[in-house]
Amino acid sequence: MELANKTKTRVYTFGNKKADGNSSMRNLLGGKGANLAEMSAIGIPVPPGFTISTEVCTEYNQLGKDEVINLINSEVELAVAKIEKTMNTKFGDAKNPLLLSVRSGARVSMPGMMDTVLNLGLNDDVVEGLAKKTKNERFAWDSYRRFVQMYGGVVMGVKAINKEDLDPFEEIIDNLKEKRGIALDTEFTVQDLKDLVFDFKKAIYRRIGKEFPANPWDQLWLAVMAVFDSWNGKRAVYYRNMHGYPADWGTAVNVQAMVFGNMGENSGTGVCFTRDAGSGENLFNGEYLINAQGEDVVAGVRTPQQITKIGSQRWSELAQITEKQRKNSYPSLEEVMPEIFKELNDYQQILENHYRDMQDMEFTIQEGKLWILQTRNGKRTGAAMVKIAMDLLKQKLISEEEALLRIEPNKLDELLHPVFDPKALKSAHVIAQGLPASPGAATGQLVFFAEDADKFKNSILTRIETSPEDLEGMNLAKGILTARGGMTSHAAVVARGMGKCCVSGAGALKINYKTKTMWVEGKEYHEGDWISINGSTGNIIDGKVATIEPELTGEFAEVMKLSDRYSSMKVRTNADTPEDAKVARNFGATGIGLTRTEHMFFEVDRIKAMREMILSDTVKGRKQALAKLLPMQREDFEGIFEAMEGLPVTIRLLDPPLHEFVPHQLATLRELADEMHVSLESVKIKVADLEEFNPMLGHRGCRLGNTYPEITEMQTRAIIEAALNLKKKGIETKPEIMVPLVGTYDEFVAQETIIRTTAEAIFAERKDKVDYFVGTMIEIPRAALLADKIAKRADFFSFGTNDLTQMTFGYSRDDAGKFLPIYLEQGILKHDPFEVLDQEGVGQLVTMGTQRGRSTNPKLKVGICGEHGGEPSSVEFCYNNGLDYVSCSPYRVPIARVASAQAAIKAILS
Ligand code: PEP
Ligand code: MG
Repeated sequence: MELANKTKTRVYTFGNKKADGNSSMRNLLGGKGANLAEMSAIGIPVPPGFTISTEVCTEYNQLGKDEVINLINSEVELAVAKIEKTMNTKFGDAKNPLLLSVRSGARVSMPGMMDTVLNLGLNDDVVEGLAKKTKNERFAWDSYRRFVQMYGGVVMGVKAINKEDLDPFEEIIDNLKEKRGIALDTEFTVQDLKDLVFDFKKAIYRRIGKEFPANPWDQLWLAVMAVFDSWNGKRAVYYRNMHGYPADWGTAVNVQAMVFGNMGENSGTGVCFTRDAGSGENLFNGEYLINAQGEDVVAGVRTPQQITKIGSQRWSELAQITEKQRKNSYPSLEEVMPEIFKELNDYQQILENHYRDMQDMEFTIQEGKLWILQTRNGKRTGAAMVKIAMDLLKQKLISEEEALLRIEPNKLDELLHPVFDPKALKSAHVIAQGLPASPGAATGQLVFFAEDADKFKNSILTRIETSPEDLEGMNLAKGILTARGGMTSHAAVVARGMGKCCVSGAGALKINYKTKTMWVEGKEYHEGDWISINGSTGNIIDGKVATIEPELTGEFAEVMKLSDRYSSMKVRTNADTPEDAKVARNFGATGIGLTRTEHMFFEVDRIKAMREMILSDTVKGRKQALAKLLPMQREDFEGIFEAMEGLPVTIRLLDPPLHEFVPHQLATLRELADEMHVSLESVKIKVADLEEFNPMLGHRGCRLGNTYPEITEMQTRAIIEAALNLKKKGIETKPEIMVPLVGTYDEFVAQETIIRTTAEAIFAERKDKVDYFVGTMIEIPRAALLADKIAKRADFFSFGTNDLTQMTFGYSRDDAGKFLPIYLEQGILKHDPFEVLDQEGVGQLVTMGTQRGRSTNPKLKVGICGEHGGEPSSVEFCYNNGLDYVSCSPYRVPIARVASAQAAIKAILS
């Protein structure tokens, strides 16, 4: 074996605003050690300490404990002495003790590794010294019992043996609580804590036959070796193997001085943010408490005070406290300890400039000396995320690319929909949980039928599930709640399209349509009762919750503008009405990628003609009914074309199974029979005839257009005539006619022929023409496989990844809600494939379809219009596969624009 090099450095110290290491030394010092060194090196007063390098861990595994102690002994002694000097305390001294923390720290964060040991250095003598110094006997003994408990478990291995067993120390605690008739740890007396220390040590001896080490140096060495052992512990090995981390990386050991904020009136502790995490305002802020430990600030027992004076004044206004009261009882740190505040303010600036992002910091003041314990990039709201990224860009702290990569696209949602007032949410009672199907917040009165949606000013349409018949009611309601259905259920898709808040698939709801009641959590709700739903979290809340309107700030617009400069892939929208189209254009959509025409047939005057067409036995009868629909449909298209002002608009021919359009209630059937001058019986037979065992795979899509060509003819006529009418008015149009659910070449060609023949006939009639394209959805796996053949006749492809996912997985879109949640919980699936594109499987069909299609038709335009078109990871996939555009619901357009820009930037960076 190679002899250990005795002269190389194995221990790296930090503290006193200096450090042996820096952040680039992750491999040697581990992530934590490198960060502590970096902070110290840039002048931040972190509690002093040292890092034993990862190489020593490897030496430990090769040479064993004694040899390794030999190798690092003198370095560690020097390092401890350095800490003692900085802290003006002494390790093991009963009067003026230095206490240490010991932590593991690999080059990557590893949750399977050793836990932290705090307060190392305490023993029966030192605890008395700590009690005197802090003038707090309870604190000293509580620290001691926590130390013995932690050390006993982590270092000495005294833990529960079986899964069913209690932790041996917790068992002792429980027994004492029972004996004393108390429930909380805080109720223990000092004597109780002393008894616990005694009993803990006894339990350790009984279990492993070893005394608890009283000598602080023994404690330290054993702890260091335990960290090294943890690198080969079961959990760590499992984690390493899972991620492919080699065994010879090893872990570092970080030893650091403990600091205490509860050493009197010149001590304290707090947390602070370099900018406002809620609004993003560039204003240093935070909270602190005098004579307190870290957990006191978050525990809520004492009211934390504000760090800055301006923050304190703003707080007092909200808390309705007078300026006098504020000054006397809740002064800011800026007022109480101006020097410390100034120092802290300097450090927050240094840290933010250094890490070039908003920092969330923890600090402690021990006897008039400020220590920064931790800094990390702060969590923030969507609004703050946007403002901070753009402000940092303006300050030239980050580049445009970085600013864009700092935007979490999904978080933009928060800026686009009304949101619950966070203050009101604090007291909200959540009664059930569903899927966050369409973001936003809605408070309203319960209705159970679409036609009742206008009964109240604000209604929540609550259904077992929705169907196309409910469309008008869904539009009128403030929010939509369903007991069944997943993320691509009818309710979810339509709601997202409308930008309407929706919670779907809330299985806990029991809905009775007859009695217009809903049961949940043992409570009965009736029509008119108030509930609130949060479409961003899936929460269903009892009663009213106040909402606030979102503000689309200037920075939001700036992010969008910047995104468009970086992305080459276009973002279109799925829109069925001129209103949707306008919303999407405001959000920057560059065209419509999908207009589902079926929704247009549900308005009162249209549905009758539609039903007449469906129930008619003859081509002549169908044509008569379609003739009634033609002008209305033409008007629809004119509206949409006009709203899009010359941008491309893809209109899809009729897709859903026809039985969705016919009534099932007796009264409506009778009405229909009367109108059609036929018997009720014959209408009933016809309706029954339309029933299918598996409608998703039945008579739908282009199968309708090929069996009833007159439908395709009418729709083509409506589209082309609308375009010609607008041309006359000087408005440009770019119609793209899309055939749904194509599986074979001939299926497409049959539809394409009808479309082109019809269009040519209209041009001849009108003696005028417009450019138009004919393309197809690729949503059946067979179409992707035969894309090269189909592309010879198609101008464009649009991947319908909702159906493509359904048919590739063999999961019914309408029934997957029954097992998908369980699959996700069990980890059988990582994501809902109807939400996040399955790149591994369905993605292959997208890649193949695009490549094969372009191999025979290089000009083929390719897009996606399934729900995935607005999901960031799927958008990135589309970019990487060279798609021309993604199309998504209007409210996801900004998200897709940023995701598309990010994909472009990432592609350049890699
Ligand atoms: C699809 O299948 O992905 C699609 C966009 O069409 P629909 O959801 O209307 O079936
Ligand atoms: Mg489809």
